[in-house]
Amino acid sequence: MNVLTRHISDFFEHWAPNATKQDYDNTGLLIGNPNQPVTGILCCLDVTADVIDEAAARNCQLICAHHPLIFPKLKRVVTTDETGALIHSLIRNNISVIAAHTNLDAARDGVSFALAQTLELTDISMLDDSYKTMKRVIFRFPAALKPEVSAAIRNVDLDCGWSEEEMNISVARFNADVYVLNELRSRLLQILDGAPHSFDIVALESSSPLYGFGALGKTTSPMTQQAFLDHVAAKLGSSGLRFSGEADAIKKVAVCGGSGSFLIRKAQQSGAQAFITADIKYHDFFVPKGFLLIDAGHYETEAPIIAAMQQKLASAFPDVQVISTSVCTNPMQGWPAKSGNTVSVNPHTTL
Ligand SMILES: [Zn+2]
Repeated sequence: MNVLTRHISDFFEHWAPNATKQDYDNTGLLIGNPNQPVTGILCCLDVTADVIDEAAARNCQLICAHHPLIFPKLKRVVTTDETGALIHSLIRNNISVIAAHTNLDAARDGVSFALAQTLELTDISMLDDSYKTMKRVIFRFPAALKPEVSAAIRNVDLDCGWSEEEMNISVARFNADVYVLNELRSRLLQILDGAPHSFDIVALESSSPLYGFGALGKTTSPMTQQAFLDHVAAKLGSSGLRFSGEADAIKKVAVCGGSGSFLIRKAQQSGAQAFITADIKYHDFFVPKGFLLIDAGHYETEAPIIAAMQQKLASAFPDVQVISTSVCTNPMQGWPAKSGNTVSVNPHTTL
């Protein structure tokens, strides 16, 4: 069977549903044709000119990126604008782009889990599992379609309340996780086949074990602060860590790939002796004794998701060539400079 771009979109929809993204975000298939055959996929954090050249040279028709290229909304696509030039080049080269950003941050085995695995932590779980993903749905549709609609709802194991309204309208009321809801909604739209209907969807306070923020894990044996800092720097290929606080016998570790300052308190409450994230502000570095706070860099803490995406896609689509980019898109450099980094910057993708 030919693999099409939309099959890869479906794969991400299972792993990291678009409905779990943050409101401000822009994820999913951003550029391209959903029905285009795909024989090669390039995984990366940022879509830059060098990454596009690499995808074209290696016969990849699809780029799967963590940071959305179109962010915020675009008003025009012109080659005199940096993002416009990139989009123009993608279209000219017939390359599609899927972005999995805050939805991949929130997913099990997403950005923070990949970071925890790279740091060789064990027993990995969500650091903050209070992410609200349950919805209350009130679905109104023509009563004639009730047998098919109720079969579709039963098929995903949801408890549903039913009532009838005037004008032959049936009403289904149920609670569903965003992931289940996405699947169910596409099935219901097929059944409706253009018939008038309405979905009223309200967020509930319930969380799901499948989605959250950050990750919590354990080191294989208690580590001294010095050994732990060496370990983090080596595993993440960091040219310099910034840290505050102090801790000994580090065993329980919290992590969040990218900007995770909002989880510092949660990390302390979890009993972790160390928290590794990025983009930490000066005042946030003041932490109590017994806790080590490490800023290991935005790129460095998110880069592990590139290989994780590559591996997951390669095993799901064995007939497709899936590669990780060889371009370092980190716009931030340190001094003394590390050798071998090809820097390629798009200001819209350094989120
Ligand atoms: Zn990021």
